[in-house]
Amino acid sequence: MSDYLWHMAKLLEGKVALVTGASRGIGRGIANKLAEHGATVCFTYLSSVEKGQELENELKAQGVNAKGFRSDASDMKQAEELITAIAAEFGTIDIVVNNAGITRDNLLMRMSEEQWDEVIRINLKSVFNVTKAVQRPMLKQRSGSIINISSVVGRSGNAGQANYAASKAGMLGFTKSIARELGSRSIRCNAVCPGFIETEMTGELDSKMTDAWVEQIPLKRMGTADDVANLVLFLASDLSAYITGQTINVDGGMQTI
Ligand code: NAP
Repeated sequence: MSDYLWHMAKLLEGKVALVTGASRGIGRGIANKLAEHGATVCFTYLSSVEKGQELENELKAQGVNAKGFRSDASDMKQAEELITAIAAEFGTIDIVVNNAGITRDNLLMRMSEEQWDEVIRINLKSVFNVTKAVQRPMLKQRSGSIINISSVVGRSGNAGQANYAASKAGMLGFTKSIARELGSRSIRCNAVCPGFIETEMTGELDSKMTDAWVEQIPLKRMGTADDVANLVLFLASDLSAYITGQTINVDGGMQTI
């Protein structure tokens, strides 16, 4: 292996990471990527207990220090208990990826108050909960990287997704504010905006709609969880030591703003 590749493989050696919502999709891809690069990986899930256990077993079988937690990120008390448990077992938390998210799509005319509240609570309040809980250990150690998985829809809006777009746009304001608040303690906070990524979330869409979206993408394909995970790896590592408060798209060129 060249020196360069060896260095790349060790990017997160000695770091402890938490990924919320990693039982499947993008979160799972991120958990695998951080583990591949030497991190101890803690992750959460909510309903997918078997898949959560499967991921923990897979990572451990590869020799990774890993632990899955069943924890609802939208519940403040559970978020606090989660961070306390990780800090107690692993000593620290260096990287947090706020990835857990849902969609409850509907046109505004048909959108229920429950659909609005659920999406704001799970997509946006979760980020507040987990970030607030983790700031104490990060402030103490005077370092950390927080990465919030937003969406291109948070920048552009999307018909039928007013709740989702509002939650994802909210994450961007939160990210920039936290970058300003915690920067003096070397804690960085950045947002990633995936475009159209192949996961169960987008698997619910009909194929005609999918084809029409792909046609709009300059790179002419959907993204993969790995495409997103590569950007998260960069933001988690010291390669991005002077980058904070930023919103970066990983969308095949779908948006150029
Ligand atoms: P997904 O396949 O539906 O997976 C969502 C994950 O979030 C699951 O692991 C789920 O756990 C977890 N989760 C949901 N509610 C939770 C809660 N309250 N507490 C803890 N975990 C919770 O979604 P995905 O496509 O991978 O999306 C991941 C993130 O990327 C989301 O924030 C999404 O908005 C964002 N994103 C996705 C796309 C895309 O095209 N797919 C594009 C832009 C942004 P369980 O399995 O246990 O329910």
